[in-house]
Amino acid sequence: MHALIIVDVQPDFCPGGPLATSRGDEVAGLIAQHVADNVSSYDAIVSTQDWHIDPGSHFSRNPDFVDSWPVHCVAGTDGAKLHPLLAPIAENIEGHFLKGEYSAAYSGFEGHLADSEQTLAQWLHARGITTVDVCGIATDFCVKATASDALANGFGVTVLSELCSAVAQDSGIKALQDLADAGARIQD
Ligand SMILES: [Zn+2]
Repeated sequence: MHALIIVDVQPDFCPGGPLATSRGDEVAGLIAQHVADNVSSYDAIVSTQDWHIDPGSHFSRNPDFVDSWPVHCVAGTDGAKLHPLLAPIAENIEGHFLKGEYSAAYSGFEGHLADSEQTLAQWLHARGITTVDVCGIATDFCVKATASDALANGFGVTVLSELCSAVAQDSGIKALQDLADAGARIQD
């Protein structure tokens, strides 16, 4: 059984947002098209969202863009919603996982369903999922962390690299290389 994990495709990580990645909007559109074209090949499709209430030192007025960041993805704000370009595939997304309410959370596997404590790993295992495709934002942070945790949880992992947007090009390339070294398949 095969699932797609759409990581943090939220307006605050796209051009015009406080933590913009250059390809954010482009990737949102490409993911919507990918799902429309490949929906029958997935047994489940889920999304993750950075969803901050009071994440402590994850937010800073003087961010280092490694461990601290400008205010972003505040729970309930428009910038934290799923990207509007995902609206056409909204009904295909069966599970919405939120993460980071009270501390930094880069991996979608730190997330839980909005209305329960069920984690992403529990949800996927309950549906018999054994392999996952991972895409979204940002390649070098939350996509990397999510794909790494997927490997650690025993899933076969393919990163859909063209459907990922990086904070910085160099670190995005390095993240994909690190994931390949760790056992993920990288698909252009
Ligand atoms: Zn965050």
